[in-house]
Amino acid sequence: FSGADLENLVNEAALFAARGDKRLVRMEEFDKAKDKIMMGAERKSMVMSEKEKRNTAYHESGHAIIGRLMPDHDPVYKVTIIPRGRALGVTMFLPEEDKYTQRKYEMLDHLVVAMGGRVAEEIVFGDVTNGAGGDIKMATDIARKMVCQWGMSDDLGMVEYGDHQEHKFLARDMTATRSYSENTAQKIDSEVKRLIDTAYNKAREMLLSHREELDLIAHALLEYETLGASHVKDLMDDGEMSDPPASPTPPELDTVNKKKNNSEDSSLGDDINPGELSPVGA
Ligand code: ZN
Repeated sequence: FSGADLENLVNEAALFAARGDKRLVRMEEFDKAKDKIMMGAERKSMVMSEKEKRNTAYHESGHAIIGRLMPDHDPVYKVTIIPRGRALGVTMFLPEEDKYTQRKYEMLDHLVVAMGGRVAEEIVFGDVTNGAGGDIKMATDIARKMVCQWGMSDDLGMVEYGDHQEHKFLARDMTATRSYSENTAQKIDSEVKRLIDTAYNKAREMLLSHREELDLIAHALLEYETLGASHVKDLMDDGEMSDPPASPTPPELDTVNKKKNNSEDSSLGDDINPGELSPVGA
């Protein structure tokens, strides 16, 4: 968090306190403010069918379980099926310390975690939604950068492929500024696909062997809406939560609050991206 981020955080926390008619800003308000900044504003009044909730619960559980199983992945911080920002659900990971670089094996783990949502849907429902669009885009982006910019592919080596600065600012055709051969382009494409396919297969293998935990966490999400790191850990290690979260706010109360403060961002209405995976440490 930069100075400006902290200022924003304090402001949001003060707003939460004011909306709750509280005289003091406490840790509870700071927590809410942090979640709002990192995961987007809650959209509790958005109506989701039971079917969609179930799909989101399993999708997010897939991300959370794999995130927890990957030894080099940032720990799970929170999983929720309360729509936030553009996503119908969010799995948030937080590094244990500030990080400015990421290692290759962390990237590979991240690809597997990204595949977890889609794979969970496939295993449980035998069908998939467009909800993994954001995950697939993010995974492809990471894989392509690993190969083209970060020299992380043994096959393609320590070479930067393409001028990445230029592409950002000029709406020119990729081929026009491409500094490598058609043969290399094909190699890059197949290397990107290989990285993603490997991650997908690993995610599938892991979730199939943790099928029970998938049910446990998804059911807990459907009951409590939001789970913290300790809840996910308890469910995976012991099959039950030693200290379950508070039950979700009843909808009536929520509607009253919404009328009172009208704090939701309704401008996001059309462009919902279901089940998005939060970027690591964003
Ligand atoms: Zn996802």
